[in-house]
Amino acid sequence: MKIYNTLTGKKETLETLEPNRVKMYVCGMTVYDHTHIGHARTFLCFDLIVRYLRSSGFTVDYIRNITDVDDKIIDRSKELNIEAMNLTSKYIDSMHHDFNSLGMINPDQEPKATENIISIIKLIEKLIEKGHAYVSESDVYFSTDSFAEYGRLSRRNTEEMLPGARVDINKDKLNPSDFVLWKKAEQGLAWDSPWGKGRPGWHIECSAMSMEALGESFDIHGGGIDLKFPHHENEIAQSKCSTNGNFATYWMHTGPLRIDQEKMSKSLDNFITIKDALKSFSSEVLRYFLISSHYRSPMNYSIDGLVEAQSSLDRLYTALKGCEVQLDLDENKFSIKYKEMMNDDFNVPGALAVLFDIASSINLLKESNQLDEANQLASTMVLLAEPLGVLQQDPEQYLKTGVKLPEDKIDSLINERVLARTNKDFERSDQIRDELVSMDIILEDSAEGTSWRRK
Ligand SMILES: [Zn+2]
Repeated sequence: MKIYNTLTGKKETLETLEPNRVKMYVCGMTVYDHTHIGHARTFLCFDLIVRYLRSSGFTVDYIRNITDVDDKIIDRSKELNIEAMNLTSKYIDSMHHDFNSLGMINPDQEPKATENIISIIKLIEKLIEKGHAYVSESDVYFSTDSFAEYGRLSRRNTEEMLPGARVDINKDKLNPSDFVLWKKAEQGLAWDSPWGKGRPGWHIECSAMSMEALGESFDIHGGGIDLKFPHHENEIAQSKCSTNGNFATYWMHTGPLRIDQEKMSKSLDNFITIKDALKSFSSEVLRYFLISSHYRSPMNYSIDGLVEAQSSLDRLYTALKGCEVQLDLDENKFSIKYKEMMNDDFNVPGALAVLFDIASSINLLKESNQLDEANQLASTMVLLAEPLGVLQQDPEQYLKTGVKLPEDKIDSLINERVLARTNKDFERSDQIRDELVSMDIILEDSAEGTSWRRK
């Protein structure tokens, strides 16, 4: 299996520290607002990566943290005049609700920064002891000069890593690229420490939580590409300077999501929460859409894209409709091709193309009445789609979702139409069909009777 490693800029063969076990840490949410579709994309990509690794026989320790102490949280709670802990617990619940709606699996551990303050303080003490950090005015800073590899992940030189012009040069730092490990704070979210009352910096939280859960060396560290610098660069510096471990072997980053070709931001008023998106499209359509680009590629969110995703899913479910699925997989040319795609840095677009090839074959087999073979391929399709988190519904049910008319009303109209046709009242029968079509309901007549689906 090959994985693109941001650290080396190359696709590399996955070699885990322990046989058949992947230890993986993904930077989770900073909980001060509702999750948006950019978060959905990132965490869905890691969700399918974990599922696929598991389906390939690996045991995966999947850790996804919660950042519940951070400047943004403190600012927002001041703005809303509520306790920071009340703000974070509200948005943690909201996040769990959204991620469950998208069918994400739960991480094996979901550590919170506020519950790891002791290990964070210990880590900072170690860095000071080893000469990698210093105290200045009750704040503690990491000294970037003390780590020769600083800038390796993001491939930046020292000058590029200086804070931008709009950031005030902090006179407490020895070097402008030094970053805070512990910040003095008198009230609100604050804990006692050897340097006085304060709170941790964001970067040190992830170093502490990942190593607490997985040890000094683990296999995969992931996050959105926007975290590469400075967050992940700083995590590497802190972690490697405090231990003899190697920290993470592979660094995986998901590409950015834009909306109608623009960056998503509150000021542009194009900020789409997961809850908003799910008002217009089902969770499976949203999920399919967000995983359908390669996880590293930039992706554009648009209504057209979602409509296309819906019609793609409709096509796949239509092929499955009427087939009997047995959940054992005999290897065949499709499953081999699918694995080849997924083993090549999780090439989901390639894997989806295989599902479409299977759908075409099923349709041909159904036409020529080779139902056993069709059933076999339908089973292959459902099993291969499982790690992607799609095509796990009953096709009939899926193809009926999203219509506005209640099912019993549709059934009674269909019965009325049958009666009209028996009485050769074709005017009424056509009228009923048209009425249903106007409500996006398609009737399908066959020897077994009339069934219906969403248009
Ligand atoms: Zn992090």
